[in-house]
Amino acid sequence: MLIVMRHGATPDEVQKVISVIEEMGYQAQPMPGNQRTAVGLVGNDGRVDASRLEERQIIEAARQVKDAGAVVLRGGAWKPRSSPYSFQGLGRPGLRLLAKAREETGLLICTEAMDETGLGWVAEMADIVQIGARNMQNFSLLKVAGRCGKPVLLKRGISATVQELLLSAEYLLAEGNHDVVLCERGVRSFDTATRNLFDLTAIPVVHKLSHLPIIADPSHGTGLRDKVIPMARAAIAAGADGIMVEVHPNPEEALSDGAQSLFPDQFAQLMREVRIIAEAIGRRVAEPAAVGA
Ligand code: PEP
Ligand code: MN
Repeated sequence: MLIVMRHGATPDEVQKVISVIEEMGYQAQPMPGNQRTAVGLVGNDGRVDASRLEERQIIEAARQVKDAGAVVLRGGAWKPRSSPYSFQGLGRPGLRLLAKAREETGLLICTEAMDETGLGWVAEMADIVQIGARNMQNFSLLKVAGRCGKPVLLKRGISATVQELLLSAEYLLAEGNHDVVLCERGVRSFDTATRNLFDLTAIPVVHKLSHLPIIADPSHGTGLRDKVIPMARAAIAAGADGIMVEVHPNPEEALSDGAQSLFPDQFAQLMREVRIIAEAIGRRVAEPAAVGA
């Protein structure tokens, strides 16, 4: 197991991590690098409680978004990455960190399940199970998610039509799970100006064809921080039932998707704007108390 210290971590902070590792009965191997220091934990027998080693980044992010008015914290314990060499998520220790963030903030937790085994663990802990774009047509996973007893956030596939998105949702409904939220996250296009082509039209199209709520994810939809805010505003104006955006206390240090992550103060400003836009079309942003947090 490798603990990567944040950029600019002090020798004291590195020493603290070494002490915790040794206290737990393992051997610590500091590896100073040009940019940051990593500390190897030698002898991990699978019982290491990683939550003792985290640098409170997720809790810090959770507090900041909660203060700005977020009601759900979405973070990936398992991350579907295009490259096997990219950060793959923290796995089950990541779930424990999310549970801790819920404990400390009262935010509901949404996290992705990538396979059936992971789905069992996610459904046990999370308040909402995310099925990611790459699994939108993983029908066996959808069937299990339909029986998992938790609400499901179903993201539109990278090249899926709206019709296919709705049919995938039917797999969940057919298993008896009626708590389904759809998510528009952009589709692949010929244009490289943005990461994906954020399909705003999908929002009114889904509203016409289905009773299911649909939220928008302009972070993956555009892939670029400065495009996330205008498209989030536009999605609310188009009738989206919610917005999911990536936020990071220090986006340049993010292990995944830093370029599309908002700074916390940008998120707070966006929330203020979203309230005004929602009101202009006769809607209201849910207050944390209204969702039982
Ligand atoms: C995500 O939500 O972090 C994610 C990987 O999104 P998508 O499945 O839409 O690519
Ligand atoms: Mn992401």
